[in-house]
Amino acid sequence: MDPLDTLGRPLHDLRISVTDRCNFRCTYCMPKEVFGRDYEFLPRDQVLSFEEIERAARAFVSLGVEKLRITGGEPLVRRDLPRLIASLAALRTPDGRELDLTLTTNGAALRALAGPLARAGLRRVTVSLDSLDDAVFGAMNGVDFPVARVLDGIDAALAVGLAPVKVNMVVRRGINEASVVPMAGWARETGVTLRFIEYMDVGHSNGWRLDEVVGAGELIASVTGTWPAEPADPAYRGEVAGRWRYLDGAGEFGIISSVTRPFCRDCTRARLSADGQLYTCLFAVTGRDLRAVLRDGSTDDELRTFIAGIWRARDDRYSELRSASTSTLPKVEMFAMGG
Ligand code: SAM
Repeated sequence: MDPLDTLGRPLHDLRISVTDRCNFRCTYCMPKEVFGRDYEFLPRDQVLSFEEIERAARAFVSLGVEKLRITGGEPLVRRDLPRLIASLAALRTPDGRELDLTLTTNGAALRALAGPLARAGLRRVTVSLDSLDDAVFGAMNGVDFPVARVLDGIDAALAVGLAPVKVNMVVRRGINEASVVPMAGWARETGVTLRFIEYMDVGHSNGWRLDEVVGAGELIASVTGTWPAEPADPAYRGEVAGRWRYLDGAGEFGIISSVTRPFCRDCTRARLSADGQLYTCLFAVTGRDLRAVLRDGSTDDELRTFIAGIWRARDDRYSELRSASTSTLPKVEMFAMGG
């Protein structure tokens, strides 16, 4: 029997962080003042090997996981990533179906890696892009990375069939609100699915404040004021993005509104950090040490029992409980846990 947590939620998705390192220094995620030259990232021996990740993923799949998302840090900075993708692409659900295998990236290395990843069995990608304006994007990514190179990475992904390409845009008041409508217009023309993400209080280095969140209502009004759209049904239980379909047939956009419209009740997601900590909520304070179980000689059955036990005890619903005061509680950084 696949495990259900204390709120009756199944374990459906696993996000696997393959590194805590990133080549960007996004101000809202890994600000360079905190993550500078002297910052100590995980030593190699603490990071899960590809074999350990594959073994863990197999255990999760046997417990009901059907969707794997590779993330980080920036996953494309992990050497030989296509080798891991090939081993994960070979996994099947207990009744023999292929998994939904995807990856979230800043797109910087997609031109080089889209082909090898697709050939290894990756199905699709999500690319993060917060503006089409170089000045805005460069300031947000912290390293002046040009928009054109991300767009080129997206083209490369489309060319090798890593479709649909989804694009995530974090919106922060006073920083990139003016980019919302241009991004929507670009996505409509390009055929990528744009998803706006409410700026969230993950981790504690970004100095999050509620007044910097541009809420779902406001984002929807901005876009539909230009191109009318209607709500669309979720594709499956636990889909994080609320979907809006353009009335003129030019596709859809999504909103991930963890702050103003929490979706904890439908959250079927677990996260495995690069060093093998298992988290059952993006806003968790502590994880459980799956790496220890992977390395202590436990059998696959024992590994499965460990994971199932953690899932059955799960009662997280942080976003529903969030209040102004909880934003001061300690949390784990998103790049560390796997965004
Ligand atoms: N490096 C990859 C990337 O850029 O997509 C994967 C990891 S990144 C942590 C995953 C996603 O989390 C990105 O779309 C990023 O914009 C988003 N993110 C990071 N910090 C966030 C925050 N405080 N609020 C909302 N989204 C955030």
